[in-house]
Amino acid sequence: MEILIEQIKKEGLIFEFEKSAEIFPVLAKMVADDECEFPAPIKTALRAFRIGDMVEFDGDIETFVRLRCSRCLQLFETPLKSHFALTYIRRAMDVIEDTEPQKVELSAEDMGIVYYQGEKIDLKDALQEQVVMGFPLRALCKQDCKGLCPKCGADLNEDLCDCDCRSSPGKFAVLKSLKFEK
Ligand SMILES: [Zn+2]
Ligand SMILES: [Zn+2]
Repeated sequence: MEILIEQIKKEGLIFEFEKSAEIFPVLAKMVADDECEFPAPIKTALRAFRIGDMVEFDGDIETFVRLRCSRCLQLFETPLKSHFALTYIRRAMDVIEDTEPQKVELSAEDMGIVYYQGEKIDLKDALQEQVVMGFPLRALCKQDCKGLCPKCGADLNEDLCDCDCRSSPGKFAVLKSLKFEK
């Protein structure tokens, strides 16, 4: 995922990558920690523009991710899409020494600015960050997932259990019949 700066001409350049999640260290660690799986490769399509040493990327990332639902604990797959725009600015070697690099990097990052050195830009870190940012905030197999019964652990999406932890239609029926009997 390295791009040679001089490859990018005035009219811009289009790149496409299709990479396995395993080659991204952060994503590989998420898989190793059992947080998710990537059943499909990470697809990236991006356009690069250059003005002097400044390179702008405008791109889309697309893949699928397999997660465990936080309510019913079933595995489910969901598409993951992320659009991003990043600006890379070349930083001269000596500048790093006499400014406070930590501070500069943080504020620049907030604006979508990344510094690079040399003749190449490696997009690996930026791309894996976009994948992570594309994750759903809550892992839910569906918006109205009913989850598990807190008593017996039955998957309430599939069948209603007999526990009285929720007002099932059956329970109402019993109450009604009691009233009629009085
Ligand atoms: Zn669920
Ligand atoms: Zn139950």
